[in-house]
Amino acid sequence: THEIRNPLSSMGLNSELLGDEISDLEATHGPEGFLEIRGLLSAIRGEIDRLTEVTEQYLRFARLPKPKAVAADLNVLVTDLLEFMSQEFLRCGVITETQLSKELPNVSIDVGQIRQSILNLVRNAIESMQSGGVIRLVTMMDTSLVRLSIEDTGEGMTPDTAQRIFDPFFTTKTGGTGLGLSMVQQIIQEHGGDISCHSVLGSGTKFTITLPL
Ligand code: ADP
Ligand code: MG
Repeated sequence: THEIRNPLSSMGLNSELLGDEISDLEATHGPEGFLEIRGLLSAIRGEIDRLTEVTEQYLRFARLPKPKAVAADLNVLVTDLLEFMSQEFLRCGVITETQLSKELPNVSIDVGQIRQSILNLVRNAIESMQSGGVIRLVTMMDTSLVRLSIEDTGEGMTPDTAQRIFDPFFTTKTGGTGLGLSMVQQIIQEHGGDISCHSVLGSGTKFTITLPL
């Protein structure tokens, strides 16, 4: 990753300098004729940014610390996160529904990591509903574990795609990194829990996380 990050950062820097050079030329010659050059440069910069994001996410994933578990209320975590994301839901035409168990015992979790995991799942859900939809979050108590499901009414996936979603770098999105779900899976497994996915193409996807008490 570092072998990639260093040259990438110098490419970023040089493309910025190139942009400055073009600005100088535009100032003396007028902006006409530079539109195409600007377009090409901005395409290059877009890709540099995307790769930088991949390396950053990868480092977060590779350096994932062991969970520092504390007793926490999953319902509170879910409620706070939805509140935090409310503007994003509004902008994307997404409605959220919750069904939070009143008898949910505290779970022993690394709150930051579990929060990040739910955030990743909710973001994916939003991204699967380009023209809006519903995200439903349910918590429930099972004999020796707690269950959280996150269900969307998005585009769903083919069985082929569903098989590969937890593979690092697997993505079907143009700007995707394919690291979100591998990170979520690693976090959940480090907690001694489990994550599964059920998806129907064209109608939606449901992720279920279980965590031991
Ligand atoms: P990324 O979001 O960068 O593509 P992820 O690891 O988060 O990477 O997801 C991998 C792939 O799994 C996505 O590209 C998409 O194809 C699929 N996926 C994940 N969540 C959903 C969802 N809620 N609905 C449909 N497809 C999904
Ligand atoms: Mg993602």
